[in-house]
Amino acid sequence: MASNIALVLLSIFALSINAGPIESPQDSNIFLNDMRFVDSEDRSAIESERARWTNGIVPYYISTSFTSQERAVLEKGLQMISSSTCITFRPATTSDQQSYTYVSIVRGSKNSGCYSYVGRVKRGKQELNIEPDSYCMQPGPVAHEMLHAIGLHHEMSRPDRDDYIVILEENMQSGVISNWKKEPNSLTYGTKYDYMSIMHYGSRAGSKNGKPVMVNKERKEVRMGQLEKLSDSDIVKIKSMYKCN
Ligand SMILES: [Zn+2]
Repeated sequence: MASNIALVLLSIFALSINAGPIESPQDSNIFLNDMRFVDSEDRSAIESERARWTNGIVPYYISTSFTSQERAVLEKGLQMISSSTCITFRPATTSDQQSYTYVSIVRGSKNSGCYSYVGRVKRGKQELNIEPDSYCMQPGPVAHEMLHAIGLHHEMSRPDRDDYIVILEENMQSGVISNWKKEPNSLTYGTKYDYMSIMHYGSRAGSKNGKPVMVNKERKEVRMGQLEKLSDSDIVKIKSMYKCN
């Protein structure tokens, strides 16, 4: 019994070393530049049916470069989505690789961070990058990136965001403002703006001076973003997008 407990503790310890430091969405570089687009034409097609995964089934492939502990973290990230929505994940088959799109989870190089395409974009391999030994290697960031592939944008890119947040560009690092571009066509499915969406940046993301880059309409700093779970409105959006509510 005691040795079982020791073994469990040891494996948790090993996992936490392997997963790297746990960081909160308040850390300034989390999720900056984490979206990829094929070209401007595909960008406008993200809201269309053809950018959805048929029947909400996402075939995926995990690079063999990941260690088994890292693989377990990735699988946990996928479970965060499948346990609360109608999205299912299945390992890509040879025929997917020839005739359908699948998400290929790549073990990124140093400082590559994490990033994903938005929606289902093209035939064959669609890369989702996870840098090991970084904040990316936690279930929450893995879920965030996979939610981009499923079709979600960042919450603070919603067309109605100016009714809920004020962006303080004076506190922002140079060159990062494009991360706050509004997506005029992104669908909100009747949900209320959600500061606690897993797709919301932390209030100090991209800060150059430790001060917030986003505050609420009353110009107060409030908690924004989290990595623990899909919020209720994240779930509603996915269920609406995939017509399974
Ligand atoms: Zn993102």
